[in-house]
Amino acid sequence: MASLRVCAYCPNTCRPSYPAEAARQMESHTPSALSLMALAYLEGQLDAGSGVVQALRRREALVASRGHCTYGLDMPAVLDAALKGAP
Ligand code: SF4
Repeated sequence: MASLRVCAYCPNTCRPSYPAEAARQMESHTPSALSLMALAYLEGQLDAGSGVVQALRRREALVASRGHCTYGLDMPAVLDAALKGAP
């Protein structure tokens, strides 16, 4: 949860790792946005019916951040671990 909080409040300094030739990046798909949504889901502020589960599957930017995180986080692994066992 601590790593999710770091990422949720980070200004996406890994953004340049997202390839220019990839599909246009949506702000709601950035690692920071996904972390914020995951926290809201895990803390009960968003329920599964809100569409958050589907939103958390949009991981292109999250995967691209691997090896480029300012804080040395592996956010795909952090998100998988955080969501393990979630409804
Ligand atoms: S993956 Fe790292 S650099 Fe990118 S938004 Fe999260 S904490 Fe910031």
